[in-house]
Amino acid sequence: MERTLIIIKPDGVRRKLVDKIVQRYERAGLKVITLKKMKATPQLLKKHYSAHVGKEFYKALEKFMSSEVVAFVLEGNNAVKQARAITGATDPSKAERGTVRGDFGIDSAEKADKEKRAIENLVHASGTKEEAEKEIGLWFPGLKK
Ligand code: AMP
Repeated sequence: MERTLIIIKPDGVRRKLVDKIVQRYERAGLKVITLKKMKATPQLLKKHYSAHVGKEFYKALEKFMSSEVVAFVLEGNNAVKQARAITGATDPSKAERGTVRGDFGIDSAEKADKEKRAIENLVHASGTKEEAEKEIGLWFPGLKK
């Protein structure tokens, strides 16, 4: 059994896609073990996006991610890889049909870059098992391992 972290970003919350998005992961056999609606602090976001702090889009990303989000932990076989496949490519305009970003996404990297803002791509899904463990610890510090 493996665990991974999913965050429904402010665009997904605003568009009332929370239930639809959670179902996409559940129907693949992944189990939601905890879920909460919350607002992330700048400190949490800096830790979560430590790989991006200092990049030209970081400030815009932090601003975008500071509105209400829904974070949850999924558990299942190959949870990290499965959840990434269900999520789809970073750029919604290039994400495959059948993925969360491909089916619900309305933004593109090109448009976001032109407007100097973060790509609004509905969800974050941990990239590797190591990142998942780190991220679950950040967003759910009280969760039993
Ligand atoms: P990642 O760690 O790849 O998920 O990237 C973090 C998030 O930053 C992405 O999901 C996008 O919302 C945003 N992002 C990544 N690359 C760019 C970029 N070139 N321009 C604007 N936003 C970006």
